[in-house]
Amino acid sequence: MAFRLSRRKNFAGHGQQLWPAFALLAAVVMLPAAGVFWFMNQAMQNEQLAMHQRLSDLYQSQIQVAAERIQNAWVRQSEIIAETIRRHPAAESFGLLVTGGHVDSVLLYRSGELTYPESSAFPVLSAELQTPNWLEARKLEFAKNNPGAAAEAYAGIARQSSRTQETALAWMADARCLNKAGKPPRAIDVLVHTLGESRYRDIQDMQGRSIQLNATLFALQLMKGPGHPLFRQTAASLAKQLSDYQSTSIPSSQRRFLMEQLHSTWPDSFSQFPTYAAEEVAAGFSRIFPNQLSTGRIQPTGTKDLWAYTPTDRSYIALFNQSRLLSFMSSAMGAPKPADGIRLVPTPPGARSTGVQSGKIGDLFPSWELALYLDGTDPFQSAARQRTALYVWMGILMAGGILVLSILLVAYLQRQMRLTRLKNDLIATVSHELKTPLASMRLLVDTLRNGHSHDSQLVHEYLEMIARENARLSSLIEGFLTFSRMERNKAKFEREIVQAKEVVEAAVGALGNRLRSPDCKFSLDMAPAMPPILGDRDALTTVFVNLLDNALKYTGEHKEIQIRGFAENGSLCFEVRDNGIGFPRSAAKKIFDRFYQVDHSLSRQTGGCGLGLSIVQFIVSAHNGSVSAKGEPGQGSTFTVQLPAGG
Ligand code: ADP
Repeated sequence: MAFRLSRRKNFAGHGQQLWPAFALLAAVVMLPAAGVFWFMNQAMQNEQLAMHQRLSDLYQSQIQVAAERIQNAWVRQSEIIAETIRRHPAAESFGLLVTGGHVDSVLLYRSGELTYPESSAFPVLSAELQTPNWLEARKLEFAKNNPGAAAEAYAGIARQSSRTQETALAWMADARCLNKAGKPPRAIDVLVHTLGESRYRDIQDMQGRSIQLNATLFALQLMKGPGHPLFRQTAASLAKQLSDYQSTSIPSSQRRFLMEQLHSTWPDSFSQFPTYAAEEVAAGFSRIFPNQLSTGRIQPTGTKDLWAYTPTDRSYIALFNQSRLLSFMSSAMGAPKPADGIRLVPTPPGARSTGVQSGKIGDLFPSWELALYLDGTDPFQSAARQRTALYVWMGILMAGGILVLSILLVAYLQRQMRLTRLKNDLIATVSHELKTPLASMRLLVDTLRNGHSHDSQLVHEYLEMIARENARLSSLIEGFLTFSRMERNKAKFEREIVQAKEVVEAAVGALGNRLRSPDCKFSLDMAPAMPPILGDRDALTTVFVNLLDNALKYTGEHKEIQIRGFAENGSLCFEVRDNGIGFPRSAAKKIFDRFYQVDHSLSRQTGGCGLGLSIVQFIVSAHNGSVSAKGEPGQGSTFTVQLPAGG
């Protein structure tokens, strides 16, 4: 036993000595793998950088192309404005540019002077209004508060005067007094019919305002809204004139005033005039002297979201709402699309863009930028992700390959180790186990040779002993050989139909007298009509020989051994039961291990070497069966063999 324990220790030692080898192996495999991973990582980063660079160059050129398109479109736009101004009078140019959608508003200059919206004219008191007739009429109207008489007086002036402006002014005053005198219908008649004549069309009052248009507004006010039969027609003609920048000469301030009055007084009849906002913006902006602005570029006006542009000759200041500029830029770069999957968004100065890249639009739009957005997935990221996925998979495959190789290598080494250990075990065990019977045989033979050969009784006894030792030796060698064949997977089993009873009886017969001795109570109980087994007759006999041999070896003086055979669930069961020393529960599995013995000191007496049960297990497994052991120390043990029915 001592020798077995020490050998086991040695093997543990072998195992420990092998760990450095495993560590070395791991290092040899892992180091290059780590190196490859490092290089792959570097390559991946470089690849990403290069990809990023390529894409950003591509995008930058897209931005440049779009910026050029915007600048070119702007040049064309300013040419259109300049051309319009050159060809048309100021008011008409204003109307054309605003209604044509070229600008949101515009201020027009000629030789540095604002021509539209014109600066309000100073009132010029006409000499005609100082005549006695006028003074008399005014006296009647204001001092004497006699509007009826005043109306007569103004009408008289109107009829007498040969000057159109004086006539128009007199009719206006006449209408005013008729209204005051409680005769609005007559006042309306004067305002609409008399002053509506075409000769008053371009006649202005002292402030340069159209008398006719003021008269029309006055008439509309007197009509008190759309209920009056003349209202619709009168209103339509006024609205038409206000929208007409070509043939009507109205000062912009009057135009704005009338537009605002019409819309605010009769919002249902007059929607806001399309040029009203432009007029308002221009009027608000007209205080700026054009050379306060720098030329040739879009610049802020100080009003939120309003941008101004004046050309180098400062002939106009075009005003743009930011939204118009943005849509101008968008349509300028619109067709053809710069590239699929990207979107360029013009961004005014100060606005934060979240695009992946941006670039300047150019000198015409200082500080404006084009921000590039990606529609759908970010190609930077998706390209990087693809690469990363590729590298990760390659890495996983490599690591997996390395792992599998390492496992195979380790398994191979372990197998080699196990074989070496077995070989050593076997050699040591064989030589040790063979030594004992050989030594006792030699001793007996020597004793016989040295003179006791005449005592026939003794000779017989000695020969019996020699025969027993010889048999034991043969059985040992047989065991070793079987085991060795088994280990090398060389044991070949015949397949034939074998009757269970025959096998068991053959095993019983093989043990001969040992089972039939007076101190052994042996019983064999085989169920009738058990199915046959498809297997190797000799090998199966060995199974029961080994089990019965153990039962004999590990029982005391009064042996009770029983074999029971029966069929259960389509398989055959055999129980080999004894009333021997049994074994602890913890040993129930281990006793089937090679060379395992519960009590090594006992094996010296019994002559076992711990291979019997492993041979049993090997044979039973080879027949697709199973074997198990149950035992209690001092309570005997039961070995159960289960074999599939065959045949
Ligand atoms: P051995 O040659 O030592 O008998 P085996 O492989 O046949 O080798 O058995 C292994 C060990 O199992 C034995 O050494 C013994 O300790 C235990 N053993 C086997 N059969 C019995 C049994 N019937 N009763 C008690 N112990 C047993």
